[in-house]
Amino acid sequence: MTIVKTSNLGFPRIGLNREWKKALESYWKGQTDRETLLSTLDEQFSTAIKTQIDQQIDVIPSGDFTFYDHVLDTAVMFNWIPERFRSLKDPLDTYFAMARGTKDAVSSEMTKWFNTNYHYIVPEYEKSTEFKLTHNKPLEAYEKAKKAFGVETKPVVIGLYTFVSLSKGYEANEVKEIQQRLVPLYIQVLKELEEAGVKWVQIDEPALVTASSEDVKAVKEIYQTIKESVPALNILLQTYFDSVDAYEELITYPVEAIGLDFVHDQGRNLDQVKKHGFPKDKVLAAGVIDGRNIWRSDLGERLSFISEVIADVQPKEVWLQPSSSLLHVPVAKHPSEQLEEKLLNGLSYATEKLAELTLLKEGLTKGAAAIDADITEAAQALLTLKEFAKGTNADLTAERNNLSSKDFKRPAAFEERLRIQNESLELPLLPTTTIGSFPQSAEVRSARQKWRKNEWTDAEYDEFIQKETKRWIDIQEEIGLDVLVHGEFERTDMVEYFGEKLAGFAFTKFAWVQSYGSRCVKPPIIYGDVEFTEPMTVKETVYAQSLTEKKVKGMLTGPVTILNWSFPRTDISRKDIAFQIAFALRKEVEALEKAGIQVIQVDEPALREGLPLKESDWAEYLNWAAESFRLSTSSVQNDTQIHTHMCYSNFEDIVDTIEDLDADVITIEHSRSHGGFLDYLEKHPYLKGLGLGVYDIHSPRVPSVEEMSHIIDDALNVCPTDRFWVNPDCGLKTRQEPETIAALKNMVTAAEVARKKLAQHA
Ligand code: GLN
Ligand code: ZN
Repeated sequence: MTIVKTSNLGFPRIGLNREWKKALESYWKGQTDRETLLSTLDEQFSTAIKTQIDQQIDVIPSGDFTFYDHVLDTAVMFNWIPERFRSLKDPLDTYFAMARGTKDAVSSEMTKWFNTNYHYIVPEYEKSTEFKLTHNKPLEAYEKAKKAFGVETKPVVIGLYTFVSLSKGYEANEVKEIQQRLVPLYIQVLKELEEAGVKWVQIDEPALVTASSEDVKAVKEIYQTIKESVPALNILLQTYFDSVDAYEELITYPVEAIGLDFVHDQGRNLDQVKKHGFPKDKVLAAGVIDGRNIWRSDLGERLSFISEVIADVQPKEVWLQPSSSLLHVPVAKHPSEQLEEKLLNGLSYATEKLAELTLLKEGLTKGAAAIDADITEAAQALLTLKEFAKGTNADLTAERNNLSSKDFKRPAAFEERLRIQNESLELPLLPTTTIGSFPQSAEVRSARQKWRKNEWTDAEYDEFIQKETKRWIDIQEEIGLDVLVHGEFERTDMVEYFGEKLAGFAFTKFAWVQSYGSRCVKPPIIYGDVEFTEPMTVKETVYAQSLTEKKVKGMLTGPVTILNWSFPRTDISRKDIAFQIAFALRKEVEALEKAGIQVIQVDEPALREGLPLKESDWAEYLNWAAESFRLSTSSVQNDTQIHTHMCYSNFEDIVDTIEDLDADVITIEHSRSHGGFLDYLEKHPYLKGLGLGVYDIHSPRVPSVEEMSHIIDDALNVCPTDRFWVNPDCGLKTRQEPETIAALKNMVTAAEVARKKLAQHA
């Protein structure tokens, strides 16, 4: 008989009411002292452990809790403190300085944690880094939990391979050496755990899912060395977010348990387990509940799934786990959440997911009948949700179901469109424009607050938005921009704004998840068929257009970005969801065109970040991503100009997709890239409209005309002049008004200077 246990990989830190976030932020503002901070964070640590005890989790993780980010914790633990922070003496000050920067030292870089929307602090290796253990974080957490609750926890540590893969500051040929220098530190951490009586340690190695088979082999040797030093410590080698290609090698690692993700692996882990079996002497830690999405599990289906795996490989022991840390989902359903009952019942957050694991264990050990009522209830809830998800507009559904390839294609090819658009739009050479948003000033934010709190009527709010729009149309005219925008004053967030107006989306009041540090977000929930219900941007855009002779650019968020920044439903594919959103946006594009708007921008800043982890899965994703974009933009006439925007420049890895979008113009971030992208363009000319960001919008600094002229001149060496645009890197909503106006004036002057030069050389 296989022994069955429940195990968790990590729990959200932020607290049900974001107590964690609030404690940090008031400490940073100097409103609370350190003692208060430490005691509040301590409470949050305890609450997380307590919740897991209450949910009867057998193997509870410790050490996943953090004061900011678990990767930063690991870097600090190994004394990877960049030189610029070493003059700080206090460890907590140093820690927060690395995360947030000081007036003298910029913070460490932050980047996406694999393909999630969590961001970690990138560890910085420096030649001068002295490798040593500053403290033993997993051990401290283990002891704390033991002292508080008498519970034996499973300390968590980021694995050596993953830690180095996520770091920067070294060349490829230094990797081996750095890994070797870390080995003694890992041994020290684990030895101290072993000596303290720890039974199990969880070593997270998610980077193995993208590792080459040579790497999986080489890393095994590292684990051999480590294991020899801690023979009595049981190691759970945990992978997640996908399958490991070199599965056969992985299962020979000298560890006592191997954790596999059976949810986000596209079925590959199951295939491997079936094909190659699973070692009889190891614990199979099976990720069976989705750790990254918010839907209730179909308990009956999950029970058969895991029963089948057990029957197949007959491991001595199985741990039922979430597919990854639960850090990516909200803490628990909030008692005050007011959502449609049918939706609410279909949701499951971290705490509810733990309960699901416990039920599954019961079903496995006592037989399905023991949890029969729960199985039925879950199935019923999901069925109800599916009914609730159905679109209500039969005409639109029929139209969407009857799309054919011509609906994904503009009537004429780019060069032909360019000629037509040049005639109808009457733009100068090197037209200037902005990316969409203008400063969301304190007045704009307070107006929205008043309206949300019903202190202002719709009419009052609309009037305010119109006034602000008019003010900025005048400012843009005064600056001399060529293609104007309405300024996006009515939007707080580029996804939320559309989600609130489309059918199929829900927004919660309390379902927060950590995005980075103390920043939490409430991603929209796509629970149903996404449908266009009413024009979303026409009123604002048409109003702006009525104020000027210049062209006003309509502004939409693209289907892939809306999908990637939401919690998607899982009963249909991501591609199908993207197509539904795209089709709804297509209606908006058509409405804008019909209302006389001749330039329409569909932003896709999140297109690249949606790339699957494994390169072998990229093509499929990129293909439907581009199709979605074209579905939303292809029904317009040839003289309507479609723009898109992305917040990065080095698009070498997705250049075919960029082409494939068939946008008339793409504007991208560029001001901070160092020539590399231009070298690339020189070798691989991009022949559609291209706007390279000529100034950095992340800083209040006003760049000079000369600086921007330089960027334009360099770009014009490699870009065709008759389709080159001049614009800032991204939207300006976080900037202040004076610096925005000054910078845009300089930008327009730089474009004029460039036009003169071109005229002289002509
Ligand atoms: N149109 C959006 C804006 O200007 C684009 C934002 C983005 O690219 N992230 O704010
Ligand atoms: Zn951008």
